[in-house]
Parts: sequence; structure tokens; C-alpha cells
Amino acid sequence: MRIGFGYDSHRLTAGRRMVLGGVEIPNEKGLLGHSDADVLIHAVCDAILGAAGLGDIGRQFPDTDPAFRDISSLVLLERVQALAAARGYQVCNVDSTIVLEKPKLAPHLPAMAENIAGILRIPSGQVGVKAKTNEGMGLVGAGEGAAAFAVVLLEGEDTP
Ligand code: MG
Repeated sequence: MRIGFGYDSHRLTAGRRMVLGGVEIPNEKGLLGHSDADVLIHAVCDAILGAAGLGDIGRQFPDTDPAFRDISSLVLLERVQALAAARGYQVCNVDSTIVLEKPKLAPHLPAMAENIAGILRIPSGQVGVKAKTNEGMGLVGAGEGAAAFAVVLLEGEDTP
């Protein structure tokens, strides 16, 4: 068993889509980034990569590489899953929290969990996706951005 932790944050800006957990959320602002800036998926990717001893998302998918411009982060998660599998690891479960002041994400959380579970080939009951506000405090509380935290448990035998 190996445990992994991931964190990510992205700035909110007008003129961008808001994609969280692979679900497009209707909102006047979206997240700024080289890819689709899916902060939740990036945190999950970092947790898996960290647990598998494979570094982080910036090392695997550099934001200077035009191949990753506006790419769906679900594609990155698929690649991360494959990298971990090649190393001998399968994800057992995921737990995660998105921190965002608005809009309310509760109606979209089950679809996010389904997306993640589908790619990781685990039942959606083994993927936790939660959402919180920052109670108006700090930069996230002021609506300047979104953050996400994720932990994962991997099972397997290291085959470097
Ligand atoms: Mg990111």
C-alpha cells in the first residue's frame, strides 16, 4: 500500500470555462491554466504520481509543451493511471475536496466522482469528491481562485 497527497490551485478569470472533475460548471468565470485548468483532477493526478514515486504533474506534463494546451485533464488522469499501472500500482480509493466560494457544486459532485472512477477503473463509491467554501477568508474566499486537495491509496508492488 502507498499513500499519496495532492494539492492544486488555479486563478478564476472571465472568458474561461469552469471544468471541475471533468464536468463543465455553468459560471461567469472559469479557471485559468495551460490545460483546461481542472484543479480537482490536477490534485488527484499529483496524489497518484506522488504515491507511485513518479514526481508530479508539472514533471510529467510540462506547461511549456503545446501538446497539453487546453487539453482535458481527464486525458492527463488517464495517462497518470497508465504510468502508475506500468509501475505496478492500482488506485484503491480517492478522497478529495474542492475549495471554491461559488457557484454551489453539490449537484455536480456525483458526476465528478463517476468521471474519476471510470478512468481509474474503480467503483464510484471509492471516489470521494467534496466541496467547501473558504468562508470568505483569504484569496479563495475573495473569489480569486479555486483550490483542491486529494489523497489516494495505491495497492501493488513496485516494478521500476
Ligand atoms: Mg493545475
